[in-house]
Amino acid sequence: MQLIDGKALAQKVQTSINAEVEQLKQEKNIVPGLAVILIGDDPASHAYVKMKAKACENVGFYSITHNMPDTISQNEIIATIKMMNDNPRIDGILVQFPLPKHIDSDKILEVIDPKKDVDGFHACNIGRMVTNLDSFVACTPLGVMKMFEAYEIDLKGKDVCIVGASNIVGKPMAALLLNQDATVTVTHIHTKDLKSHTSKADIVIVGVGVPGLIKEDMIKEGAIVIDIGINRIEDGSLVGDVDFENVSPKCAYITPVPGGVGPMTIAMLLQNTLKAAKGRL
Ligand code: NAD
Repeated sequence: MQLIDGKALAQKVQTSINAEVEQLKQEKNIVPGLAVILIGDDPASHAYVKMKAKACENVGFYSITHNMPDTISQNEIIATIKMMNDNPRIDGILVQFPLPKHIDSDKILEVIDPKKDVDGFHACNIGRMVTNLDSFVACTPLGVMKMFEAYEIDLKGKDVCIVGASNIVGKPMAALLLNQDATVTVTHIHTKDLKSHTSKADIVIVGVGVPGLIKEDMIKEGAIVIDIGINRIEDGSLVGDVDFENVSPKCAYITPVPGGVGPMTIAMLLQNTLKAAKGRL
């Protein structure tokens, strides 16, 4: 079994981004800028935004966080996004999810300029990604693809089972894998017999939010397992969706939680923001 070290890979990506940022600053006087819109006081959202801001600082980006109360109106959020769309110092705009219930997330995402949509959630970018055109791709699935590339895992013709079909994880993951000629099965909460799908797959990618959902008997010998889930359990520690202890001995490769997909997601946000900044050239 080989561990896919997302933390080390993310560090490598960030070092190379940092070098490019220095060059952009010196040669073109461009400092990539990211604006984060954070609504309410959900502790997890605050922690994620803090990590993103720190990562921006580490690679030399300019970053600002708009912290808004959860009583804010949809129109006020839209006005802030429009201001960011017009701000030449801002290359990327990210709205931290989840949003309060009175806000229509789809409406909010639609307002972001697709050229600044570094989260890759705008329908325009999703459509371009599905048709294999240049686009901003959602950071978590993009991070998983980067892992496959770094570990030279060939996807052509592989049977891949994705567990979880959300717009930000499972669906874009499926499109990216199809673009690499994998045979993709997408499963979700209503799938009748999950094990019958996972146990046949060469690669299982899980992003669900249920600790220990994927057990030893659901994975075939020599499979590759990518665990996207992040769950805080009672003792305060973070675990994924895979029963790592029992599943890992059967795997050819597996990602740990923490230290797997999580750091790659942040690295891909930085990569997307750099790409957006290069769009100024
Ligand atoms: P979501 O709630 O939007 O979607 C969950 C998906 O899992 C749905 O498609 C649902 O049908 C499916 N599902 C739920 N229970 C299931 C079950 N018992 N069996 C099969 N399918 C089931 O969640 P999301 O935003 O896609 O996030 C999923 C997980 O990934 C969470 O743990 C989240 O914290 C994590 N996540 C991690 C990163 C990262 O950077 N590593 C990024 C995004 C999300």
